[in-house]
Formats: sequence, structure tokens, C-alpha cells
Amino acid sequence: MEAHSVPEYFGELVFDDRQMRARLSSKVYASLRKTIDEGKKLDSKIAEAVAGAMKEWALEKGATHFTHWFQPLTGITAEKHDSFITPSPDGSVIMEFSGKELIQGEPDASSFPSGGIRATFEARGYTAWDPTSYAFIKDKTLCIPTAFCSYSGEALDKKTPLLRSMEALNKQALRILKLFGNDTAKYVRTSVGPEQEYFLITKEMYDQRPDLRYTGRTLFGSRPPKGQEMDDHYFGVIKPRVQEFMNDLNRELWRLGILAKTEHNEVAPAQHELAPIYSTTNIATDQNQLMMEIMQKVAAKHGLVCLLHEKPFAGVNGSGKHNNWSMATDTGINLLSPGETPYENAQFLLFLCAVIKAVDDYQDLLRLSVATAGNDHRLGANEAPPAIISVFLGDELSAILDAIENDTPYAGTEKKIMKLGVDILPAFPRDTTDRNRTSPFAFTGNKFEFRSLGSSNSIACANIMLNSVVAESLKIYADRLEGAEDFEKTLHEMIKKTIKDHKRILFNGNGYDDAWVKEATEVRGLCNYRTTPDCMPHILDEKNVKLLTGHKVFTEKEIESRCEIMLENYCKQVRIEANTMMDMALRQILPAITGYADKLSETVSSKKSVNASLACSYETDVISKLSVLADQIYTRSGELEKAIISLGSVEDIIAESAAIRDTLLPKMGELRAAADEAETLVSSEYWPYPSYGDMLFSVR
Ligand code: ADP
Ligand code: MG
Repeated sequence: MEAHSVPEYFGELVFDDRQMRARLSSKVYASLRKTIDEGKKLDSKIAEAVAGAMKEWALEKGATHFTHWFQPLTGITAEKHDSFITPSPDGSVIMEFSGKELIQGEPDASSFPSGGIRATFEARGYTAWDPTSYAFIKDKTLCIPTAFCSYSGEALDKKTPLLRSMEALNKQALRILKLFGNDTAKYVRTSVGPEQEYFLITKEMYDQRPDLRYTGRTLFGSRPPKGQEMDDHYFGVIKPRVQEFMNDLNRELWRLGILAKTEHNEVAPAQHELAPIYSTTNIATDQNQLMMEIMQKVAAKHGLVCLLHEKPFAGVNGSGKHNNWSMATDTGINLLSPGETPYENAQFLLFLCAVIKAVDDYQDLLRLSVATAGNDHRLGANEAPPAIISVFLGDELSAILDAIENDTPYAGTEKKIMKLGVDILPAFPRDTTDRNRTSPFAFTGNKFEFRSLGSSNSIACANIMLNSVVAESLKIYADRLEGAEDFEKTLHEMIKKTIKDHKRILFNGNGYDDAWVKEATEVRGLCNYRTTPDCMPHILDEKNVKLLTGHKVFTEKEIESRCEIMLENYCKQVRIEANTMMDMALRQILPAITGYADKLSETVSSKKSVNASLACSYETDVISKLSVLADQIYTRSGELEKAIISLGSVEDIIAESAAIRDTLLPKMGELRAAADEAETLVSSEYWPYPSYGDMLFSVR
């Protein structure tokens, strides 16, 4: 080990501001900083100088290759490595890296999903450097974060629209700040701290489960005698082997400049969480992708497998990601932090209301931004946040909004009527705005926590939507306020109106309650899209297309292509699961059942040969039960296969995804039920897979 203390090795694999400052001339550094901070275009001379410094640094760190690192719509990151070597006339090589190679790359785009955007004759795509996210070294390769577009300029990735959405929000937020007399802020950026949940099991167990290997989740498995009912895992003592993994993981993340901060055991056995300190949204997004990758690599070194699927095990909690989100100026003002003066408070309330209005107006976009086949097991079921999007504010802030809406005295201050821009908001202590773990979207003192994201999902989509919808509210407010004769009066009325119009989205109660589903859908008229096929097509709704194209986050074509790709992913995922189940049932589960039943009949024969009148009721009873179950498993596999074949004729992707949900998923459930029951009867020696108990309690 080279460097020893954390501050010494933190960020050693990153070409960060420290490196830039040290290695670039002051002129080049200043120009690059302008590009990073203000989006100013970088001229080619500067790019050349930056590339040279980056290369020197990377070579010193032992790198031999470079890659444009990007996030195509497969949901994982992509890289194509090129070595730095260039031949010299004398037969040797020199290490080269040009400004052009830094700025732009041309990976073949033909095998990445494009949802029909990329015409087959135009397979080229290009990657463009995102200087706002630092380059880093991974596996001897200099990785340059880039956006990925088709040759005609359409985004084929998640970074491009994310950057556009940040720009949209920046533009509108600055308009609002100007109205409040703030002329010093140069930009507003959104910030995110994503809390990442995951499971750890031993590699030995993992290797024995085709379902985990092919699909990331168990498709069979009867309930273990012990699950999460004792609540003895949450925040419990971390087991030594897990602690060693976490120590190693932290070290790797810190070397990459990722601010890994908190780690603890989660609710389910074998479930854990890691949260970094928040950073600018596009950096947080890149780092979360990198973090998921490093988690899996470090786990492998420890003989473990890190499961990032949203629902690896039925019957215990699944894994999500909490997207802590806020907006801040370059001067360090958090716009979701209640201020200390009446004026700051009015500004805070305006930004708060902008979020409330945005979430209510675009519940569907937020819901679909987190929709995947894996996450449907959480959101549509009775766990984690429900599929219904609502906002939790806590009692205190809710009471303040009530008072403003009704011009009634707010009990918290000396029974005064709150007047915006005149009165100071009471300070709400953090614990009153805090834990309602059932809320999908909770205000937590100075940020919102969007809790519906799936654990394996890129956080890009959720933040693209969040930034865009809030940009829209801010735009509406700015339009109105800029034209207002009496700023304060208009502001007050606007906030009152927002509260009145959008209070249906505010809910502080228990989101798991059946009564909430009824109230939310029947009384309040909120959306309840339980599955991906339910919500995804709504991205094409006129109001949503208008919003996203209006803020230049997506073109219409990009929206259509994304809808198609997301639904395609859903269909592929469920189909792979169905095929895996059939394979496991026919080639492993049924033979195991038969083998065990044979064994039992041998026992019966040998017992009877000793004494023909022995009843052998245990053996015969189990044999007959297994026989019934084996027939069911066989029949249900056949039905599942038929259903898969019949789906081949569905043309339209929206119809196909709905058909897959309505036919395959229930049939998979039936097949599983019979197999899981058989598992409870078959000797563990004969059962081909480690049990839930084995896996969930495998890491000591
Ligand atoms: P918890 O939600 O467990 O109470 P914290 O409030 O400490 O934990 O933070 C959870 C996450 O929210 C962390 O990643 C933290 O860095 C992040 N966070 C804190 N402030 C902000 C902010 N202004 N914007 C975005 N994320 C934030
Ligand atoms: Mg949290």
C-alpha cells in the first residue's frame, strides 16, 4: 500500500482541480475553469494543453489506455479502450493523446439501443467530453466522462439529457433569484446525494443459482424460517467479513474521489447501505454508476457477490436508492433551506412551492422515471414507497402552508398571521421534518428525498425529470413575477394559489395503508401506476412532451425512442426470467424431486422387505405429495412456454409489455408456488439450490 492516510490517497486516481491547478499553466487553467463553471466553449489549443497534462498524469499513475466513458441506454456504463501508443519510425512507440482525442470520440453506435433513432445506414455515434465531471483512472485506463450522441445530434445516453435538464433549471432559477435581488449568483446547480442499498451473499451460493446469475434475482425459493421479522439487522453490528468488504470498498471509492460517508446494515438480513456526501447532480450520477461497479468488483475480491437488483429475494425488503436532491447557487446558498430573514423565507417558500407544484403536475413523469421490471416488485407491492407519488412535508411545515393558504394565524409563532416577505418562518428542527419512511418524496429539512428509485437504476432518469419539472414551475412563476406590478402581493397570491391547487399531493400519513390508496386515487385523483407498462407510455402524453421539448431536455424523437427502449428492456427482462424459470424447473427442479421420490420409494421397498406390514406413511405421503407437485410444475412450465410463444405475435411494444405483465408474470408466480412448496418437502441434500436461509445468512 502506497499512501497511508485517507487525506493522502483521497482522489489520487482523479484528474481533479488540484491536478489541473498544479499541471496547467494559469492561462489554460483559468480557461478550463470557465468551461467547467460557466459552460464556456473550450478552444482547441486549450484542449491540446489539457490533454497533454492529463496524459502525463495518467502515465505517471501507470495508465496505458484511455477511454471515453459513457452511459448508453443499456443502463450500464460503456467504454472502448485505446492505448496511448503511437509507433515511431525507429520501431519504438511513444505515448500520445491529443486534444481531439480528449474532446471527441467515435464509437460504433450500432449495437447500443437507440429506439429507432439511428438509421441503420448511419451506425456512427460520437462521444463528447463532459469537462464538469473529472477524468479518473480505472484498471490502468484513463476514463473520460462523455456524453453520447448520434451523428445527427440526438442523445443516445443518459448524461446528455441530464446536463440539458440541469441547464433548464439553472436558467429558470436564476430568473427567480434576480427577482429577489440576487445579481451575484452566476449559476444554480442541483445537487444529489444518492443512498445506495445492496445485498451481499457468498460467491459460492451465487454460483449455484442460475436465477441470480441470469436475472439478478431469485425466481424460486421458499421462505426461510427466519426473515426480517425480528428487526435485528437494521443498524445492527456489522459482521467482520462485511466490515472488511466495506473497508476495502471505502478505500477504492476514496481513491476515486467518491465521498463515501455512511454505511450500515439495512432492514433485511444481508442487506446494507452506503451513502456518499452529496455533489453536483451529473457528478453524483457518474459516481453512483462507478460506485455500483466498484462494489461488485470489491465484493468479488472477498469471495462475495453484491446484488444490486431491486428484489433479489421475495418476502424480505427489496433495495432502493434514495435520491436526496436540492438546488444551490455557486455562492453556496441552498435554495431549499429556510432562511434567516423574511425575504429569504419568502424565497424559500417559493422554491418549495415550485417543487410541490411540479410533483403534482408531473406525478406521472416522476413515477415513470423510476420504472423498471425490477423496481415494479417494490413500488407496486406493499413495501418501500408506494407507486402513488405524494409529498411529505412534516407537521410543522404543513401547518405553515395551511396558515398561509387560509390567512389564519400560525400556532407556532405567537399566533400571528404569516405575511410573506415580512415575517420570519419559525425554525423547524430537523426531526420534525424527518422520517416518514413510507413517503416517496419527503422534505428533510433542506432537501427533498425521492425514495422511489430502484437500487440498480442509474439516477440519471429520476434527476432528468425532477430538474425538468421544477424548471417548469419556476418558469411559470418567473413569467408571472417579472410582469407583476406589485411583486410582494403577486408572490403572496401565487404561493397561496399553489398551496390551494396542489395540496392534494401533500400527505404526511402512512403510505402503505390501504386507506391511503383509496383516498389518493378516489378522493384526490392521484395517479396510481403500479407497473412499468402502466406508466411508461405516459411519457408520450401531450403535456409531458410539451414540457420536455419546451425546456429542450429531449426532442420528440428522443422521447419516443426512450419510451420504446424502456419498454423493450422491460419485455426482455421478464422474458429472460420466464425462460430461466422453465430451464430451472425442467432440468434441475423436476429431476431433483424425482430423485428424492425414488430414494423414498427405495426406502419403502427395503423397509417392506423387512416387514411387509409396515405402513411407511411418511415416505408414501411425501411421495404422493411430490408427485402432485411435480405434475403441477411440469404442466405450469408448459403453460408458461405456450404463453411465451403466443407473445411472439404481439407487434406494438406498449401492448406487448402489458401482455407480458398480464400473462407471463402470473404464470411465473404459479410455477414458483408449486416449486417452492416442493422445496419444503425435498431433502436439502437433493435440492439443487442453496435455500433462502443459506443465502441470507451466508456471510458471517
Ligand atoms: P439521512 O437521510 O439518513 O438522515 P442525511 O440527511 O445525512 O442522512 O443525508 C442523506 C444524504 O443526503 C447524504 O448523501 C447527504 O450528503 C445528502 N444531502 C445532504 N444535504 C444535501 C443537499 N443540500 N442536497 C443534496 N443532498 C444532500
Ligand atoms: Mg435517507
